[in-house]
Amino acid sequence: MKIGFIGIGNMGFPMAANLLKAGHDLVVHDLVVEAVQQLTSRFPEKIKALSSVKAVAKSNVDLIITMLPAAHHVKAVYLGKEGLLAHISPNIALIDSSTIDPQTARDIALAAAKQGNPMLDAPVSGGTAGAEAATLTIMVGGDEREFIRFKEIFSALGKNIVYCGGSGNGQVAKVANNMLLGISMIGTAEAMSLGVSLGMDPKVLAGIINTSSGRCWSSDSYNPFPGVLENVPSARGYSGGFGTDLMLKDLGLAAEAAKLAKQPIPLGGLAQQIYQTFSLQGHGNLDFSAIIKLFQKK
Ligand code: NAD
Repeated sequence: MKIGFIGIGNMGFPMAANLLKAGHDLVVHDLVVEAVQQLTSRFPEKIKALSSVKAVAKSNVDLIITMLPAAHHVKAVYLGKEGLLAHISPNIALIDSSTIDPQTARDIALAAAKQGNPMLDAPVSGGTAGAEAATLTIMVGGDEREFIRFKEIFSALGKNIVYCGGSGNGQVAKVANNMLLGISMIGTAEAMSLGVSLGMDPKVLAGIINTSSGRCWSSDSYNPFPGVLENVPSARGYSGGFGTDLMLKDLGLAAEAAKLAKQPIPLGGLAQQIYQTFSLQGHGNLDFSAIIKLFQKK
């Protein structure tokens, strides 16, 4: 298939590389020319670099995938004067894999549908390691026939591919999961810090939690207490992983979505404030499990 890909960043780069490895031809664009050059130098025969979003829209592709930082970038790329919808031919399909709020995803998909361009929202989970290994979880919202039509494309990018329902529902699933993750990490950090300050060995305490009713992914696979697990950010000074500011962004999306739905999220709101405090202290680039620092003596 001939695919346009916009947003060759931390996630977009390995995702585009996996599409090329799966045999697809790509036209790509990013504001950062070096990222595009690095990708084109690896796959010179199967890729063409284009200098604008408009050029991607006007190229002869079957599908355009976008992987952009946040909702305002997605709006600019799709709805701007020089954006995709202003220049694309009908029937070219669109997939946005950026993490954005469900309402913006729905608004853009509606605008695309009105001019004959089917659009899916397909945010991902699994980080850059999952993007490189093509083991991402992909949560897809939109018309189910389009989901089926592009299942092969999703399979080149991820392992766990889930149809979530109508337009925006991929983003709904992503936002709900990440809000729970943000909350459960704070809970795990609090419980581990309490137990250790009262005299427990952190590994013994984690072992008990992980075979008891307090177990969760934050405790058994990503424990924030240093020394409990190897190969997690808490074992390497909280570098790499999923940044506090990215978690903060996702909690902001949850808060926005909850406001629209008039749905209370007291713990999600509190978690947002706690990560905000931590970010303000200069820790926004540390992995989000570093939140445990708030509960420990310096
Ligand atoms: P990134 O900032 O590394 O990459 C985004 C790319 O989009 C950049 O290269 C940027 O230059 C490009 N871009 C921005 N505006 C553009 C425009 N108008 N035209 C062309 N290119 C433009 O971000 P990322 O880490 O790849 O994340 C992308 C999305 O995936 C985000 O929504 C993020 O929340 C989500 N996500 C990230 C991770 C992660 O671990 N990094 C995990 C899951 C989901």
